[in-house]
Amino acid sequence: MNPADFSQFVEITPSAPVSATVHGWRAKCLQRLIRMDLPVPRSRAIPASVVRAIAAGRSLPEAELGRLIAEGGGLMGVRPSAMDPEWGGPSTILNIGLNDACHRQLTERLGAEAADALYRGFVQSYAIHVARLDPDMFSDPAASLAEVLDAYQDETDEPFPQDPARQLGEVLRSMARAWDGPTARLLRQAKGAPADAPLGLVVQDMALALGPGVTGSGSIQFIDSVTGTPRITGRFRGQTQGRAVGRDAGSIYLTRDARGPSLEEAAPEVFADLVRFGVAARERLREEMQIEFVVADGVLSIIDAIRVQRSSRAAVRIAVALARDGIIPPDQALMRVQPRALAELLHHQVDPRAPRDLITRGMAASPGAATGRIVFSAAAAQAAAARGEAAVLVRRETLPEDIRGMHASVAVLTERGGMSSHAAVIARGLGLPCIVSAAGIHIDVRARVMRAGTRSFREGEEITIDGTSGEVLAGAAEMLEPALDDSFTQLLDWADAAREMGVRANADTPEDARTARMFGAQGIGLCRTEHMFFEENRLPAMREMIFADRPEDRRVALDRLLPMQRADFTNLFRIMDGYPVTIRLFDPPLHEFLPHDREGMRELAESLDLPLSDVVRRVEALSEYNPMLGMRGVRLGITVPEIYEMQARAIFEAAIEAGRQGEGVVPEIMIPLVSAMREVELIRHRIESVAAAVRAEKRAEFAYRLGVMVETPRAALRAGEIAAHCSFLSFGTNDLTQMTYGLSRDDAARFMNSYVGQGVFSEDPFHILDQDGVGELVMIGAARARAQKPGITVSMCGEHGGNADSIAFCLRAGLDYVSCSPFRVPVARLAAAQETI
Ligand code: PEP
Ligand code: MG
Repeated sequence: MNPADFSQFVEITPSAPVSATVHGWRAKCLQRLIRMDLPVPRSRAIPASVVRAIAAGRSLPEAELGRLIAEGGGLMGVRPSAMDPEWGGPSTILNIGLNDACHRQLTERLGAEAADALYRGFVQSYAIHVARLDPDMFSDPAASLAEVLDAYQDETDEPFPQDPARQLGEVLRSMARAWDGPTARLLRQAKGAPADAPLGLVVQDMALALGPGVTGSGSIQFIDSVTGTPRITGRFRGQTQGRAVGRDAGSIYLTRDARGPSLEEAAPEVFADLVRFGVAARERLREEMQIEFVVADGVLSIIDAIRVQRSSRAAVRIAVALARDGIIPPDQALMRVQPRALAELLHHQVDPRAPRDLITRGMAASPGAATGRIVFSAAAAQAAAARGEAAVLVRRETLPEDIRGMHASVAVLTERGGMSSHAAVIARGLGLPCIVSAAGIHIDVRARVMRAGTRSFREGEEITIDGTSGEVLAGAAEMLEPALDDSFTQLLDWADAAREMGVRANADTPEDARTARMFGAQGIGLCRTEHMFFEENRLPAMREMIFADRPEDRRVALDRLLPMQRADFTNLFRIMDGYPVTIRLFDPPLHEFLPHDREGMRELAESLDLPLSDVVRRVEALSEYNPMLGMRGVRLGITVPEIYEMQARAIFEAAIEAGRQGEGVVPEIMIPLVSAMREVELIRHRIESVAAAVRAEKRAEFAYRLGVMVETPRAALRAGEIAAHCSFLSFGTNDLTQMTYGLSRDDAARFMNSYVGQGVFSEDPFHILDQDGVGELVMIGAARARAQKPGITVSMCGEHGGNADSIAFCLRAGLDYVSCSPFRVPVARLAAAQETI
């Protein structure tokens, strides 16, 4: 095989042809720092094509490697340079070129202590990352240089390689291959990278962080990673460079510190330069950067800069601050925040005034608080989620295969790990409250128990994770509603200005409606009225209605419900203050309102003053083999018309009442589960006559709009003729997905994991809209409805309305708005804006 083409190496200079797509993000970032005249050691970029050739087995030309080393004139480090900084990469290897001869020179120049530490550190990282030897054998910081070299020889049967060209070649090869390994691939795919994402490499001359004077390495940033507020943080470690740790390591801090001397005091001019570079980097790179640096005897080198790691809260603050400072336009600020990250900002917090039953403390790795039952495995978390129970995943540490279990949990607690451990990183990404490094707990997986001091907690017991403070609490703590700060509001105001598609909320209760307004919903897109009938004082009337044999008797029962329904709607209209409210007429099968056990039936017989046998007979008569495909929705509206008549009357009377005090209310009435045009025609006529009756009785005028929920494939296909009879259509993609796949909404969870695991479905179609199948029906329905009636309002109100990918689809399908649960409204507002930009 031909050797890899080293002619494509580029020395990074201000004018060199370096690009992020060819050489990776790090190479491009270094070029920007060089253009800013920052003291960056000489760096070269290896394009992804060469890295790929090396991974594929192309040899490395010894002579070229030798030339690279000679040009460097000393030692060098190799860093990964992926296209996107989030995609990670293999570990950086420093001090390549160190061998016995170089070690002797360094001993003269820097002293034996520093030279030994540098050589030992290099051999250790080479052994672990390049020769792939057991990390445990090469991780002892107390081992001497001779011991480490001997261990290397013992393990490999050859002395540590002395030829710098060979060292460099092996490092390049191992990094290129590591990028192709399954772990690296999975990790970057979780961050949205394609499986074959390219990797560039950067070869940089070393600035040594061990030696005389003020010498060490560190990193500095100018923003708090958790809150996003301006603050200088970071670290400086004297006499330390990666694994190379000298005798006086750690004896000097970055900023003034009561514990000892600091770089800020010991080398104020170096510190001032760092601050100056930080300000410049923020402006030039249009981003909050963490700057990696080395100070060698008081001389500063900038070796790297990366985006500051940030919580979701900080991401919003940083993006808004950059835009407010005129560094980026507001549109770019909008693109920098992931829509689902906003959900995290809406999280609950433990009420600081409430009592706390503290079990232990750990590291606060991902903010927000949640209460759930303890589970010790990812599988148990998924099982709990399938039962609709909130679970807290408690693990010694999490592994990549725990991802689905983490998805299914409300919070994560680990005994080990740090801020960048798997659990912490993934939980922040998912917006789950998370505590890591809770050393006070001990998990006994076999006994299914978590011990903390003298206390023990079994699987299934309730705990609260306060990921903001790092406290693990027993039981369910009292929670505070999330606080929405000024940056959050600003970002969403910009989103509203940028987006074209409307966002409404699915809200059934006054509380839901208030939350929806607080989060900026432009109306209610779906009010599921049946929830109102389950309330304790309404159920008896509802059951009486179900047991009535004649329409007159049904009306008597419904007359008792009428004032309650009217009050429900009046309340909603008032809270929504002129914003549209879409009320869906009664949808579920009637048997849902009846008891199913003997005791319940006996009680019902008593309260209705009927023989038990009558009750049993009625319950049996109403039971269906397949209730979701049975007597529900509009089918009930047509066969038991009194229910819809009562609801229509309640809506109209509420509209009149609310309209007297505020703006005119134009209620939207929506018919569920339609599959035929005639259904709409029949219901429309009935509603029209109720409207006429209410107008006459109340001597009041009002307007209303009638719409249809498109939830069956037939309704989507016949949307043209259906549109002729209504003013709006709303795709109910929950039922539409169920019916398109022939997949039960209530039972699919049992095999969904296995289906997704085996790639039958790429995602659970009840969470992420199936754009190919269900989506095609939406496209067809929208197009046919619009062809028939160009001005018709078309929307979506299934659970998919709060998912960013599904929202993007809705925008492409030309829908007028999406409606989702109130807590997802901010996510939808941002996602809709991003799709428009
Ligand atoms: C739907 O089917 O998508 C819908 C919104 O209605 P529900 O979830 O109440 O069936
Ligand atoms: Mg439905």
